[in-house]
Amino acid sequence: MSVAELTSAAERLKDQSLWQTKSYIDGEWVEGSASFAVTNPANNALLADVADVGAAGARQAVAAASRAFETWKKTSPFQRAALLMRWHQLILENVDDLAALITLEMGKAYREAQGEVVYGASFIEWSAEEAKRIHGETMATPFPGTRGWTTRQPIGVVACITPWNFPNAMITRKCAPALAAGCTMVIKPAPETPLSALALAVLAERAGIPKGVFNVICGDAEQLGPVMTEAPDVRMIGFTGSTAVGKLLMRQAADGVKRVALELGGNAPFIVMDDADPEVAADGIIASKYRVSGQTCVSANRIIAQPGIADALVAALQKRVDALKPGDGFDGSTDIGPLIHHEAVERVDALVKDARDSGATILAGGKPLTDELGGAFYAPTLIEGGNPSMDLACFEIFGPVASIYRAETEDEIIKLANDTPYGLAAYLYTNDVTRIHRMTEALEYGMIGVNAPMVGAASTPFGGVKESGIGREGGKWGVEEFTELRYVLLGGIE
Ligand code: ADP
Repeated sequence: MSVAELTSAAERLKDQSLWQTKSYIDGEWVEGSASFAVTNPANNALLADVADVGAAGARQAVAAASRAFETWKKTSPFQRAALLMRWHQLILENVDDLAALITLEMGKAYREAQGEVVYGASFIEWSAEEAKRIHGETMATPFPGTRGWTTRQPIGVVACITPWNFPNAMITRKCAPALAAGCTMVIKPAPETPLSALALAVLAERAGIPKGVFNVICGDAEQLGPVMTEAPDVRMIGFTGSTAVGKLLMRQAADGVKRVALELGGNAPFIVMDDADPEVAADGIIASKYRVSGQTCVSANRIIAQPGIADALVAALQKRVDALKPGDGFDGSTDIGPLIHHEAVERVDALVKDARDSGATILAGGKPLTDELGGAFYAPTLIEGGNPSMDLACFEIFGPVASIYRAETEDEIIKLANDTPYGLAAYLYTNDVTRIHRMTEALEYGMIGVNAPMVGAASTPFGGVKESGIGREGGKWGVEEFTELRYVLLGGIE
């Protein structure tokens, strides 16, 4: 990779100052003693060498966040809201550059990346507004001459570890409510997508968020992670990523009895009942399954159709999947970008091969496109007739592969849908209102889209049950996560 090629990736940005490769600690841009490479999965090109600040950098960041907390927690919510709104405005003014960074680092189609930046910014706007509505309550007390009330205090320093599939929005969704509540932050982005996180730090600095309040550290997770989970000053760990790492962080956080907010894996059922419209359901599946090449924790993982609609649904899907165009995210005609890296292509291909060996039929795709397209691409794939206990149905696919299962009765469908340790998102397509009540109550999931393929929004609670996580992001619940309820009893009044 020549310097000229490296420069041309950076030159996609209108504002070159958003291209940052150092960590942001205590208001300074900090070099590391080592570095790591970031590559573009669409063409394997090296994008940047990013500083690895190691455990020492993580300690520095926690200390900075701890010092900053002493003053940040005393700012008025109105001051915090004004700073957040300035950050929000700057992000919206730089949507194209922030989206370009996302497409370069993780490959999603540029228009999806633009959508992510706007979605990410909406959490900042919502949290800024919500900062002013963090209320306490007064309550009756049993003792004469006393009064009782509660307040909500910021929990303290929050350490966040974020994934690569939404390199911008998974940061704002955690940071905005935390900052609104009066917490300070140390963020460790995924090693695949540090540039998006560092660009957000550039804009946070430009917005005037005081030094030490918002720190971004990059480097080896196994060095940085334990500093974040073990530091006594860190009172909460926020994480989005795999269930395996979430469990590890929960164990590490247990010694310090730190709060954890975990958004982990999913195995979303997408249920289509006989009375649904197959064309509408197929549109929903395309949106849920193939967005970000299927690399979201709420992607439909198992499509469960009743026999009366299954054939029509498969036909409607086949037409749509055949029309999906994979390619470089910067190509305006691309529907599906690459997967995050070549190991992901191999993992998805192994799931598809196992399904084929289990007797499933591949109706579309079913193979890597690495040679044809020159990056970590997998063909948009449609599979039918597999066994619900094969790997494809049991593990999170995280790739553009839809598989369809048939089940007859409501009871069978619910049993199949709940037969997983996960419980993040589920989807139900039906127009029968009594069925909607029965089935949404029976589905063991944190979020259920009824005739709706996308559930996340700044104003609504996002999160899972069972092994899909703890806590909620978004809405008033998202802000409350970063506060502690404090109770005061005042005596001697009469
Ligand atoms: P994925 O397999 O999709 O990359 P991970 O759960 O491994 O999902 O990664 C999500 C985030 O967790 C990333 O920021 C990654 O660097 C971080 N991470 C991975 N392993 C550890 C670890 N042992 N300690 C702390 N963070 C980790």
